[in-house]
Amino acid sequence: MSDTKTYSGSCFCGAVQITVTGEPAAMGYCHCESCRRWSAGPVNAFTLWPPGAVKIMQGADLLASYSKTPTSHRKWCKTCGGHVLTEHPTMGLTDVYAAVIPDFPYKPGVHVHYQEAVLRIHDGVPKLKDVPKEMGGSGIGLSE
Ligand SMILES: [Zn+2]
Ligand SMILES: [Zn+2]
Repeated sequence: MSDTKTYSGSCFCGAVQITVTGEPAAMGYCHCESCRRWSAGPVNAFTLWPPGAVKIMQGADLLASYSKTPTSHRKWCKTCGGHVLTEHPTMGLTDVYAAVIPDFPYKPGVHVHYQEAVLRIHDGVPKLKDVPKEMGGSGIGLSE
């Protein structure tokens, strides 16, 4: 059974509207310092989508972008400041923050960059020191 459901999301004020379609390549929590400082929160809940799965339906001109490094293009709404997504061109995937798509059935499968964690989470979900080997990381697991 192919799942091609579409889920809607928006920025904080609603001026930027997006949709995601199908299944994400991965879901989980990122504990890296970059996510923490940019989001002003201890953990970033991510959903990573392949090209074409994420569409900006409204307000594309309101999306601003900042790239501290070439691997992440972080985008937010210029009107409300609400974060919307991060493009990862080297991975070929787009992170739509789980909180932006509230109706999507978010099922976290991994915690990444757990060596940088400031908030320990005891949920039984695997914790990786950095990222999986397939993504160029060590693939090393850490205890909660
Ligand atoms: Zn907005
Ligand atoms: Zn991160």
